[in-house]
Amino acid sequence: MLYPKNYDVIVVGGGHAGTEAALAAARMGQSTLLLTHNIETIGQMSCNPAIGGIGKGHLVKEIDALGGAMGHAADRGGIQFRTLNARKGPAVRATRAQADRVLYKAAIMDIVLNQENLDVFMQSADDLMVENDTVVGVISQMGVKFRAKAVVLTVGTFLGGKIHIGMENHSGGRAGDPPSIALADRLRELPFRVERLKTGTPPRIDARSIDYTNLQEQPGDTPTPVFSYIGSRAEHPKQISCHITHTNQKTHDIILGSLDRSPMYSGVIEGIGPRYCPSIEDKVVRFADKSSHQIFIEPEGLNTYEIYPNGISTSLPFDVQLEFVRSMVGFENAHITRPGYAIEYDFFDPRDLKPSLETKFINGLFFAGQINGTTGYEEAGAQGLLAGLNAGLLVQGKEAWTPKRNEAYIGVLVDDLITCGTQEPYRMFTSRAEHRLLLREDNADLRLTEIGYNLGLVDENRWRLFSEKREQVEKELQRVRGTCIHPSQITDEQSEQIFKGKLSREYHMDELIRRPDVTYNSLRSIESAGPMVENEAIAEQVEVQIKYAGYIERQQLEVDKQLKQEGTAIPDNLNYTLVSGLSNEVRQKFTDQRPVTVGHASRIPGVTPAAISILIVHLKKKQ
Ligand code: FAD
Repeated sequence: MLYPKNYDVIVVGGGHAGTEAALAAARMGQSTLLLTHNIETIGQMSCNPAIGGIGKGHLVKEIDALGGAMGHAADRGGIQFRTLNARKGPAVRATRAQADRVLYKAAIMDIVLNQENLDVFMQSADDLMVENDTVVGVISQMGVKFRAKAVVLTVGTFLGGKIHIGMENHSGGRAGDPPSIALADRLRELPFRVERLKTGTPPRIDARSIDYTNLQEQPGDTPTPVFSYIGSRAEHPKQISCHITHTNQKTHDIILGSLDRSPMYSGVIEGIGPRYCPSIEDKVVRFADKSSHQIFIEPEGLNTYEIYPNGISTSLPFDVQLEFVRSMVGFENAHITRPGYAIEYDFFDPRDLKPSLETKFINGLFFAGQINGTTGYEEAGAQGLLAGLNAGLLVQGKEAWTPKRNEAYIGVLVDDLITCGTQEPYRMFTSRAEHRLLLREDNADLRLTEIGYNLGLVDENRWRLFSEKREQVEKELQRVRGTCIHPSQITDEQSEQIFKGKLSREYHMDELIRRPDVTYNSLRSIESAGPMVENEAIAEQVEVQIKYAGYIERQQLEVDKQLKQEGTAIPDNLNYTLVSGLSNEVRQKFTDQRPVTVGHASRIPGVTPAAISILIVHLKKKQ
């Protein structure tokens, strides 16, 4: 049957990409349908119930700055919050929350089910309706035809999913969920390049069977970091600690002795796994010189005894899992509640996508999340939001929004994927961003909220709160730059404590904040420095903008220079074999495609920003 309502946008899949995509399209006013296997699993965390971390926290802040759900849900579900790299520079500081998986999912569900313009329908999408190379809808398993002007596919690890535990395997989308076979077959008929990847998850353990006596406790930070720019600590549920144990030589011996029963090492699994989140068998083989690996014992929630042992993802047979788990301190009598497993699935070569995440072959069809070769909730959510908003813009007849590498980690993520593709599950790191001093967690709202508001993604409440914050930051920056502190206004005790000695002359406050040991907050006790702002986010912003002004300015200049260089002409007869430092692959691409400008060269798939820098230096030398 043909469903009686025509939608603007249909999103297939209610995971992390799908929920952000559906919410984004609906927030922009598009009538949207979220078609997903199971309403109960909307927002489900397939693996570790944790949000954020280095590079990933940056993505969550960007999703939040654009009005998305992930940051709110992390605040409502987070049971242990930490700022990673807290002692390092602001570019690499990152928020991470261990979440109660039930509370997190409930928060996402609450946001999705209360979103205007968004309908939800529980069923598998088995087929796409395509007319003249343009998608016009989706056909569900029951044969219901839903028509739409744009479709976003976010089906995660479900396409042709195959679960492995030891030498046993069966079809599945993740433990307890069916795979998407019909849709996978249909997509393989279309001209996309399809490959296989794999990922894995550790066995879960009953906390009551763990002996915590000799385990190192790891409490969260106080004060507790907050994820959403408009969130608050008051939303956080009860906070609890994680713990740490370690693998040992015995653990490694058990694993090494069982590799012949590992589906990965016996060649049963063909897909490539995540380099940065390897299985324990991978770690033991690859880092053979290490006799121990750290394992974080992370609670799965407040109302469950299950814990997630972070670091022992495995697809070894169950008897081996039990034996190596029990070889670790604290786990001697561990009871495994769910075995670990690996999953192999189809993903599409993201080089077949436009920067908007629309596919190059089927108009109006967008791909987001794990099906583009990424791993992680945050990477999925970021792509979902971008695909959903661009589906909305397409329906509105407007040009796509494609953030640049110097604007957002979302821009870095998509640019990496569509230009270089990926041979292994792609995860975000701060090191992937060449302009990371500009792309900080603390300024994602200053970078993106206005853009989000203009795109229709950000509501009036967030816009008002953001505008007030931006104004107060500016005001406080001006006040700090204009306020002087004279040595006579500081007691000896304050001088010693704050400046490690007496000030030699009068200083502007910003000069003092630029000193390595001085912070905005450390000046609070000096009366003449006031009135200082109480709001933590504003104080942090003022401090970062003052302390790192020189570096930020330099990076901005680099970006401006690069933008100008976009138009730099490349001589037609340039001999690329003479450009030293280029990889053979890039040299071949330049030789074959003969780009006419630096901008053109930079957009050739597979050409990295580093290769462009080399090319620019070479062109300058020739001038
Ligand atoms: P998913 O969260 O998988 O959501 C897909 C959604 O689509 C589901 O709701 C599903 O029901 C629905 N769906 C699928 N097919 C259809 C269809 N035909 N019709 C309707 N609905 C459909 N990430 C890490 O960062 N680190 C890890 O160590 C890690 N380990 C993992 C281990 C396992 C076993 C799994 C399964 C995942 C792991 N992940 C890990 C990845 C993380 O779970 C994903 O990156 C993230 O969930 C991807 O989000 P997504 O929205 O793309 O897909």
